[in-house]
Amino acid sequence: MENKKCPYCGAENKNLNLSESEGLYECCNCGKVVDTKAEKATAECCKKDKK
Ligand SMILES: [Zn+2]
Repeated sequence: MENKKCPYCGAENKNLNLSESEGLYECCNCGKVVDTKAEKATAECCKKDKK
């Protein structure tokens, strides 16, 4: 089990079973689906898009 911080709302999601969901989890706060494997790529993308 892992704890991950949602990149969208910053809420802490605890006890995630990422191995079963292939790195995906649904945020307990905002309900968005977060791909933990794509977190870095998404962050870079956001930087480029920042205006
Ligand atoms: Zn969230």
